Amino acid sequence: KFITFEGPDGAGKTSVLNEIIAKIAPKLGAQLVVTREPGGTHIAEAIRNVILDTENTDMDPRTEALLFAAARRQHITQIIQPALDTDKFVFCDRFVDSSVAYQGAGRKIGADEVWQMNKFATEGLMPNLTLYFDVPSEVGLTRIQNFRADEINRLDQASLSFHRRVREAYLTLQNKYPERIVLIDATQPFEAVVADAMQAITHQYPE
Ligand code: C5P
Ligand code: MG
Repeated sequence: KFITFEGPDGAGKTSVLNEIIAKIAPKLGAQLVVTREPGGTHIAEAIRNVILDTENTDMDPRTEALLFAAARRQHITQIIQPALDTDKFVFCDRFVDSSVAYQGAGRKIGADEVWQMNKFATEGLMPNLTLYFDVPSEVGLTRIQNFRADEINRLDQASLSFHRRVREAYLTLQNKYPERIVLIDATQPFEAVVADAMQAITHQYPE
């Protein structure tokens, strides 16, 4: 029962995730694990600090991809897999699709290469359901006028063309894996986005 939340910057996925968790947490109790990479594991956190360090402006795209994959690996082994092994629901903010979109398309490494590298890191673990929050790049960028301090802020990442490559990659993924990835129109009013997300979850896991 592995559910991931994905989307380009400014899609509002994290707000929707929080809202959904508030709704279902009382019901699921200890059966629910909510996480995000690096998932609070000490090692993955340390790796993420290297990625986020704004002084590392010269980071090579493949280095970045490897570091994300390394943090993901640690997050899987310490948090995600143990929870899935005990049949819990795992809600995760971003996973492999983010790397395919951001490092693969955004940083132009290529989707296939990023997949291959992540297969090594995940040993094939994939979400059962992915909610993809879709937003046109102009809208997404307008929504994130102010980057939060904890977000990667390399210059090109704030550009429209970068954002467009990321979104296109997500749409390609959704097209390729329509069974796993549900597209949600994130330009709708917040409550409608939440309702759509909730419906996708209850469709997959009727209680
Ligand atoms: O999860 P959130 O949207 O807050 O992502 C934090 C930042 O990390 C975003 O700005 C996103 O662009 C970036 N990111 C990335 N590559 C990933 C995952 C996230 O560049 N694989
Ligand atoms: Mg964000």
